[in-house]
Formats: sequence, C-alpha cells, structure tokens
Amino acid sequence: MRLVKLIANLGYGSRKEVSQALRHGWITDREGNKLKADAKTPHEDILFDDEPLDPAPGMVLLLNKPVGYTCSIKDTGRLVYDLLPDRFRVRKPVLSTIGRLDKETSGALLFTDDGTFLHQVISPKSEVPKIYEAVLDRPLKGDEATLFASGEMLLEGETKPLKPAELEVLDEKRVRLTLHEGRYHQVRRMFAAAGNHVNELSRTHVGALGLEGVAEGEWRLLDEAAKARIF
Ligand code: URA
Repeated sequence: MRLVKLIANLGYGSRKEVSQALRHGWITDREGNKLKADAKTPHEDILFDDEPLDPAPGMVLLLNKPVGYTCSIKDTGRLVYDLLPDRFRVRKPVLSTIGRLDKETSGALLFTDDGTFLHQVISPKSEVPKIYEAVLDRPLKGDEATLFASGEMLLEGETKPLKPAELEVLDEKRVRLTLHEGRYHQVRRMFAAAGNHVNELSRTHVGALGLEGVAEGEWRLLDEAAKARIF
C-alpha cells in the first residue's frame, strides 16, 4: 500500500494532510532520512514526528476495562475507546471490540481490526473459554454448579439451552465461572435464573490470557505468543 494511504488509514490525517507531512519532512526512517511517497521502508522503521508509527493493521489489544465504560464507538457517557489513543478510533480497518462487556462489568476486553481473528475468537465453534469472577448478593444455595454444568439450562426468553459452564466456589458469595459461549448478559442472567443477583462482575481471562501487568484502565498490544494464549 502506498505510504500516504497507509498513514492516512492509521488516522494521522487525510491523505492531503499526510502528503503535506511528507513534503515537510515530518515522516522519516530511523536514520532521519525524509521519506518520499513511494518509499518501501518497513512499517516498524517509519517515524512520524520522530515517533514510531502506530501498529500496522492486524493488531490485537487487551484492555483492562473499568466499570462504567460502555463497549460502543458512539454513545453517550464514557466509552471504552476513550481509554485508547484518539487515533485508534478513526483507523481503517475499524478497530472493534471482540465481543462485549456490560457497562457495569470490568476486566479483560479484546480489540482488533482483523476480521478473521475476530471471527476465530467469537465463533461458536472455537468455544474459547471466558472466565469471570462474580460477587453475589446472596449466599449460594449449593445446586448452582450442577445446574450450570447440565447443558440443559434455559435462559428467560430463549429456547436453546446453554452450553455446560464450570462454577468454582470461592466463598459463599464469590464464584469463578467459565463460559464457552457469549450470550447477552449471560452471567447475570444465569444467576438471576438460579434465584440470585450478581453485584460485581469481572472477566479475568479470555482463554489462558489474563490481565497480568495491565492495570485497570490500561491496555497492551498483544504479540503472537499472547494471541496464541487465547486459543
Ligand atoms: N455476562 C454478563 O452478564 N455480563 C458481561 O459483561 C459478560 C458476561
């Protein structure tokens, strides 16, 4: 792809603005050589205003989502995109969340601009485990693990039973729940169906990928090894 289009697609400006930046010499290689529009310099060696370019298309990010942020690109209130660099909102291809977390749910939220990767993670066939920790309103009754593991549980308004899910009891009001699908408000609805209420909910892992080293409200770019931990 031509340099102007590549850099404009990353959200640095219109093609006209990027062409001007090239003419001004603001786009260089690591040796400080001003690049021309037909340069074939590798992405990782291109600097804009002496800073490395944002990642090339095909990126995957992990955000530690705080409570109170909505998974939407346009909505009122605080959005998960507010926690990423401004340019990431206008990149092409579009950077989307991989699945969603409710506004009141915190934890591991993935983003990608790679449609194939997104599909691999959310496809029902891949059954990527998603691990949640929940704080419940009332003590567990004792039959929840059997109900959730049954493969026969129906959520209100649905006709297809839930896939078996694994419940680990941490204490009488705290649990770890592993799901292999992602239905709307699934964890909250499962506990509602079991006669309880989720007061706090956090996703700790997608596959084996956890939030180690990513503070709340922060994000990191995933390398190939980190991406492989998802599957
Ligand atoms: N289940 C929920 O109820 N909410 C989420 O955000 C994710 C899973």
